[in-house]
Amino acid sequence: MIDIFSLTKTALEAILLQQGIRRFRADQIFTYIYGRHVFDWDEMILLPKKDRDVLKAKLPIYFPRLLARQEAADGETVKLLLELHDGETVETVLMKHDYGNSVCLSSQVGCAVNCAFCASAKNGFVRNLSVGEMVVQLLAFRKYVTPDLHSVVIMGTGEPLLNYDNVLAFLRLIHEKDTFYLGYRNMALSTSGIVPAVDRLAAEGLPLTLAISLHGPTNAIRRQIMPLTDTYDVPAVIAAGDRYFAATGRKVTYEYILIKNVNCTPACAEELARLMKGKNILINLIPINDNYDVGLRRPARREIDAFARYLKERGIPVTLRREMGSRIRAACGQLRIRREQEES
Ligand code: SAH
Repeated sequence: MIDIFSLTKTALEAILLQQGIRRFRADQIFTYIYGRHVFDWDEMILLPKKDRDVLKAKLPIYFPRLLARQEAADGETVKLLLELHDGETVETVLMKHDYGNSVCLSSQVGCAVNCAFCASAKNGFVRNLSVGEMVVQLLAFRKYVTPDLHSVVIMGTGEPLLNYDNVLAFLRLIHEKDTFYLGYRNMALSTSGIVPAVDRLAAEGLPLTLAISLHGPTNAIRRQIMPLTDTYDVPAVIAAGDRYFAATGRKVTYEYILIKNVNCTPACAEELARLMKGKNILINLIPINDNYDVGLRRPARREIDAFARYLKERGIPVTLRREMGSRIRAACGQLRIRREQEES
């Protein structure tokens, strides 16, 4: 079954022509979907009834059911939980920044990478999301929250580079003028460091922003929280980041979650500074969101500040992430996991 949300306008035109429907109907359909957020053939009243009947049979539209909507008290984050056609659920978060609204979306149901700090993988990997299932996450925000979307980050549940083809097709689709018309510079992707896929991405020639989840400055420390280190170790991941920068000119961001007694000692700061010295990169420090009980805790404020200060003093560009979402469990699969817990 073809999913209308996965189609470019050109692809839709080809389907319409096969069905004996005129090409310009594709413009009308795209205006309904992307301009007016109408997701029901019967409401597309500019289309002749006979065309709608053909399309209902040939291209049935499934738009996900909204299962939950959570808004932080300060209104800075809005999170939606959506039900997919097979009953699986996916969560997606809108973050209001001073430069505009950014959507943090999911690329898979569950995740296979199994990082110790992350709620997404707790119940294992379920399946990849299709192109259309990523598109509807954006459309859901447009329909239910605001039409005004500035950027997209694929940093929600899942490892995007293990769903490579769909993620790339999705990014190309939302770049098109008839859909969201988003610039590649307003799209970012976060990976746990799947080295061959980072190289493949670098070769696409798209100016996407790449974030790499590092979280540990040595193999021994990173392995404790990211078992993937056994496959792609710290030097290999950073070398891939360097190649990405060389190929695209886009500065790589390294994400580094700060976890008490694991990776935020002075020795870790020193090692991290040594690794990054002289590189044109950014380090994004993220105090762990410890709502989800995995036994990993947030360091004390002064440890966090000392870690950031050490890097800054050595000329390493560093930001401390504003902690949006922790109060509404917006981080990383927490809403989906909680619902599953409530149901069982
Ligand atoms: N699989 C991809 C994208 C999903 S995770 C990746 O690994 O990058 C993306 C980011 O979510 C992590 O780098 C981290 O910044 C954040 N994250 C995950 N679990 C978190 C937690 N418990 N607390 C704070 N941030 C978390």
